[in-house]
Amino acid sequence: MAVLHVARMGNPVLRKVAEPVPREVIRSRPFQQFCDDLLESMLEHDGTGLAAPQVHESVRVVVFRVEDGDPMFLVNPTITPITEELRAGYEGCLSVPNLRGKVERWLHIRVDALDRQGKPLAFEAHGWPARIVQHECDHLDGVLYVDRADPRSLAFLPEFRRFGPPIPLAPSESDDEDDEDES
Ligand code: ZN
Repeated sequence: MAVLHVARMGNPVLRKVAEPVPREVIRSRPFQQFCDDLLESMLEHDGTGLAAPQVHESVRVVVFRVEDGDPMFLVNPTITPITEELRAGYEGCLSVPNLRGKVERWLHIRVDALDRQGKPLAFEAHGWPARIVQHECDHLDGVLYVDRADPRSLAFLPEFRRFGPPIPLAPSESDDEDDEDES
């Protein structure tokens, strides 16, 4: 396994639309090795999630973790909102280090994807997990959270810790998660 270098904002790989992974490739040894490396990289960089383009591979694969649950891989994921309801929350990103910004995301989504073995996956996500999945899947389309953030909400991490969110969340908007997470 290997810890991969994370591309930072400004690297063109983060702005490309990533390619789907062909089904026949998924069970191959190089792809499985890549999944191991993506996971190890997420853990090593203490991320909540990591998308393949963030480690310079422009393919539609993400890994993420929610609290104590097992890390989950999504290959060729698609997201469908279940309601149009949006929820604002602060996000960070390993590709945009030391910054936080407030982003509105769908509160409740359906996710369709393949797992890392190529088996179809379908599940619903609500709140914080839904936010993580939307953030990671945006990376597959060359979108960074700062593209969607309210510009007046952006804050460097030390200032965010010192002064709090520049634009406070209404209690109903809170995803009830600490804001140290980067993905
Ligand atoms: Zn990110």
